[in-house]
Amino acid sequence: MKKVFCSLTLVTTMFINAQTQIIAHRGFWNTQPKTSENSIKALENAQQLKIYGAEFDVQMSKDGVLVVNHDEHHGKMEISQTDFSDLRKLKLSNGEKIPTLKDYLKQGKKDASVKLIVEIKPIDSEARENEVTEKTVALIKKMKLESQCEFISFSLNICKQIKKLAPDFKVQYLRGELSPQQIKEAGLDGLDYHYSVFEKNPTWISEAKALGLITNSWTVNDLDVYLKLKSQGLDFVTTNTPDMFNGK
Ligand code: MG
Repeated sequence: MKKVFCSLTLVTTMFINAQTQIIAHRGFWNTQPKTSENSIKALENAQQLKIYGAEFDVQMSKDGVLVVNHDEHHGKMEISQTDFSDLRKLKLSNGEKIPTLKDYLKQGKKDASVKLIVEIKPIDSEARENEVTEKTVALIKKMKLESQCEFISFSLNICKQIKKLAPDFKVQYLRGELSPQQIKEAGLDGLDYHYSVFEKNPTWISEAKALGLITNSWTVNDLDVYLKLKSQGLDFVTTNTPDMFNGK
């Protein structure tokens, strides 16, 4: 009887592990009414959905403050060329101030069950990319959020730097040109590619899984695309419609 129970537990665990899990792209902002992408409110909304994680983007002001914002610009201000005090003068569309990474992580820490998917944006200077990466990793360690954070970047340099600074951190590459084998050889943990890349390379999800890599796809907003990727065993989707896919 005990043996049967253990087998059932194993099967159940395998089934749970086989589910495609949901990550809210820039938080869950696509609500009624909409709120601002990458805002604290969008992170709170994602936390309420009880999904796997909430993704957000990290940039650095001219005077070295880490902020959460997708675009290189905040209004007309180029973030990397503007001091933090000036960036704070312009509010987001929902009335919040542009969040610091520290404030964002503080909100994230309130619900340890929702992972924080940290995207560090590429910069045209490698030295500056390394500085943003070092500061981000140091802050996450200081706030003891190591096990709640995972990392993604379009910059291979940033991905490699994270692994150098914190080999245990999970890092996935976003750009899409490297095969699963190349991701493995680069020492990264997974591939988080646009869904068209998986359509063009239909063997990559199974190849990645055979190599023990994490598979993730962005930005999947169409139910049919989601279900197709799910049938191929994709681990995660990053989506603007996390409420639509949750439980499907
Ligand atoms: Mg992003």
